[in-house]
Amino acid sequence: MMNNITIAAVVPAAGVGARMGLNHPKQYLKIGDKTVLEHTLSKLANVPRLDKIYVAVSETDGYFAALDLSALAVTRVTGGKERADSVLNALLAMQNTPPDWVLVHDAARPLVEVSDITNLIEQCLTHQEGGILASKVKDTIKRGTSHSEETVPRETLWQALTPQFFPYQQLLTALQQARQNKLQVTDEASAIEQAGQPVRLVSGRSDNIKITTPEDYALASFLMSQQSKARSL
Ligand code: C5P
Repeated sequence: MMNNITIAAVVPAAGVGARMGLNHPKQYLKIGDKTVLEHTLSKLANVPRLDKIYVAVSETDGYFAALDLSALAVTRVTGGKERADSVLNALLAMQNTPPDWVLVHDAARPLVEVSDITNLIEQCLTHQEGGILASKVKDTIKRGTSHSEETVPRETLWQALTPQFFPYQQLLTALQQARQNKLQVTDEASAIEQAGQPVRLVSGRSDNIKITTPEDYALASFLMSQQSKARSL
């Protein structure tokens, strides 16, 4: 694999976590003695291929500055209104010394395994195309509002996770085009798809959950304790 290419990580962490019903953003919830954001950043810090980590934080965030991230060498950038704006701001912040590729990972996904991140990077670099971690849909899927109108065949359905990994210039252009055309972008891959470029689906662990609701937080806390037990064996 090409070892001379440069890779920067972007961690969008400027959300308010409205669906958690809290008065502070979910990335600052504690799991054990660390916040969700610190757990996520320490996973990324353990990926040897990453050269730099940029964290997009809201301008009005009163929590980030209080974290002790000195061991992790992260750069703070200002987040935006939507997740895609936060990612675009981070890409623009590195414009003078752009990396070859960028790896975008949600602050709210602290359970990601380093081996899954490494696998995503290797697969994409080997095939020279961008890609995302994703897991195959396991449940029977229904379409409908108050009643089920149809059962959707799930054979080709995947749940999009993060990280999402793309060449820097390709992602920058795709996000700028999506903004110009006022297209909805809920993840990086959707901007790349709209630009007509390939998105490789790399199978990842389904327990790489995004903390969105209080149930997710309870589950993430349990899974995190299992992960640290497994590491200490
Ligand atoms: O709200 P949601 O769970 O989709 O957010 C996914 C990730 O994007 C979170 O880590 C959140 O902090 C981040 N985000 C952001 N800027 C926004 C909204 C969300 O960086 N304006």
